[in-house]
Amino acid sequence: MKKGLLIVVSGPSGTGKGTVCHELLEKTPELAYSISATTRAPREGEQDGVNYYFLSKERFEQLISEGGFLEYANVYGNYYGTPLGKIEERRAAGQDILLEIDIQGALNVMKKCPDGLFIFLLPPSIEELERRLRGRGSETEESLARRMGNAKKEIGIGRKYKYVVVNDTVENAVRDIKSILAAEHCRVEGNEHLFEELEKE
Ligand code: 5GP
Repeated sequence: MKKGLLIVVSGPSGTGKGTVCHELLEKTPELAYSISATTRAPREGEQDGVNYYFLSKERFEQLISEGGFLEYANVYGNYYGTPLGKIEERRAAGQDILLEIDIQGALNVMKKCPDGLFIFLLPPSIEELERRLRGRGSETEESLARRMGNAKKEIGIGRKYKYVVVNDTVENAVRDIKSILAAEHCRVEGNEHLFEELEKE
């Protein structure tokens, strides 16, 4: 049995990770999404156990001390973390798992799971990144300036990843990620069983 991929999609805030991952999951029913835990309040329409596990700060810190997270990070004042859950057991059973997390979290996963498939999403331009952040309507001028400053610093970290995808349109980004997944599934490494089965004959 081929081990499932641990796919980590991240990138600077405003690149559209959430939208791209949502669309990718719609188009790839065999892909499982790792639901993160967070201490931020649910936004309209978000459901506990679907979008996130919404936890109190105390509960989140308790889980940290119990070693319950693969990684966690403090993103703009709130905790976000990937519950350990059964990630490795599910991968061993051949299940591909998608993590949509921030860059700090992805760097921690790189240390713990070097066999992960790390995909960095880039905006097509700095102007477009600013336009997308403004378009959210939830940013003040101050928070926008902070996010833009962080994004510019974060862009270079993408060089540590295995793949880079430009999110010019969601459709193109999803197509590219699907191509990466298809190529990864065709690697000789991890597919030894295909040879072995034929050589048995
Ligand atoms: P939002 O509050 O907009 O849903 O997410 C804010 C940021 O937190 C996004 O960059 C998102 O990728 C990141 N994030 C979501 N879940 C996790 C997680 O489990 N771990 C880490 N490190 N970041 C996360």
